[in-house]
Amino acid sequence: MKHRIVILGAGYAGAFSAGYLARQLHADDFELTVVNAEPDFVERLRLHQLAAGQDLRHRPLTDIFAGTGIRLRVARVSDIDPAGHSVTVVDDSGVDHIHYDTLLYALGSTAAVDQVHGVAEHAFHVAARPAALRLRRRLSELGEDGTVLVVGGNLTAIEAVTEIAEAHPHLRVGLATRGEAGGWLGPKARRHLFRAFDRLGVTVHEHTTIDQVDATAAITADGTGFAADAVVWAAGFAVHPIAAASGLEVRPNGQIVVDRQMRSVSHPDVYVAGDSAFVVGDNGRPLPMSCASAGSTSMQAVGAIIGDRTGRDIATNAQPYVGNHISLGRKDGIFQLVDSDAHARSWALCGRTAARVKTTILDTAAWSLRHPTFGRPGHNYRSVSRPQVPGLVAG
Ligand SMILES: Cc1cc2nc3c(=O)[nH]c(=O)nc-3n(C[C@H](O)[C@H](O)[C@H](O)COP(=O)(O)OP(=O)(O)OC[C@H]3O[C@@H](n4cnc5c(N)ncnc54)[C@H](O)[C@@H]3O)c2cc1C
Repeated sequence: MKHRIVILGAGYAGAFSAGYLARQLHADDFELTVVNAEPDFVERLRLHQLAAGQDLRHRPLTDIFAGTGIRLRVARVSDIDPAGHSVTVVDDSGVDHIHYDTLLYALGSTAAVDQVHGVAEHAFHVAARPAALRLRRRLSELGEDGTVLVVGGNLTAIEAVTEIAEAHPHLRVGLATRGEAGGWLGPKARRHLFRAFDRLGVTVHEHTTIDQVDATAAITADGTGFAADAVVWAAGFAVHPIAAASGLEVRPNGQIVVDRQMRSVSHPDVYVAGDSAFVVGDNGRPLPMSCASAGSTSMQAVGAIIGDRTGRDIATNAQPYVGNHISLGRKDGIFQLVDSDAHARSWALCGRTAARVKTTILDTAAWSLRHPTFGRPGHNYRSVSRPQVPGLVAG
């Protein structure tokens, strides 16, 4: 019987990992199944563009996986039973169970909407495609007269507020954040950010903690109300509760605790990559949820799966955090590098060149899903169990 590898999620981490494994493992020995809620690869890094009204390139997973032998199951994962080695999925035809020998968990993250009263019911967000489309519809309903308040002061909030302001110049667009907008940026980048806010007419409310959201306003702890036709919640990501509910060891934020090879510390035949994994980076700090972290954790996870299943040595690859690229609408951006303590360097690339760099990075990330070995030849590694790894079932 073939060894069944099931990959949950086909975002940056899951789609890349699936494609890579398919090109390394022998099809006679391994069966690869990907479960994803949507039939397409969703370029999550561009969802603020989708919300603002731009159409994103359609990237069907069947095209991305064409010729690889990967089985695609479009369904929602609702539960994992690590002891029974099965995953419960739900689709239009009902509830089903998929059995695995090895699981790669890459379900990513979503917006943290449960911490502030009224956000889940009344606010919009851009962390998933259906939510971004909902906001897009709302913005188009507002036409040329309306007020939008984006809550948050970090990357997603900055990208969302600038994109919306640029695409909808007649709307009144504001940003409210409990700290400083882009407060962690270096001085050059921060000056550039505020020039962009001015140019786009974004009103910034710093040191403003939103405590409640209702249908017409965002309200602070002291009762100050910001009237808004749309409140966009961009104040942090949360990990899906599925992992914690399944008994995998997680951090308080829901991220799965893994060893250096991306194996769950509580269930070593479950590997984790991307936003769902709690990984301490090379700088000694938790890796930020990011596309770059999805790439480096995926490389480690697939290396470990191949090593554990074929007996090959597992290389330890770097888990760096070098910086962030931030779009400020379509023609402007910031590329902020950080030092080994994750503090912003004083220098940053700003403006049109930074926007072009960001576009190139996004296009390369999408390209790599079809070319996960970056042009190098693949292998046909056969299955050999690796008895020294505790908790693994031989394939
Ligand atoms: C608007 C926006 C802008 C961003 N900009 C940047 C940026 O500039 N740079 C950067 O580094 N990062 C950015 N990020 C963060 C980045 O998108 C994530 O860190 C990255 O997508 C993580 O990859 P992942 O594969 O772990 O998760 P995802 O890309 O989120 O993939 C998870 C996959 O799992 C699927 N899924 C989720 N739940 C289920 C379920 N229950 N059942 C079945 N399938 C499910 C989803 O449909 C998705 O396909 C941005 C995020 C957003 C929302």
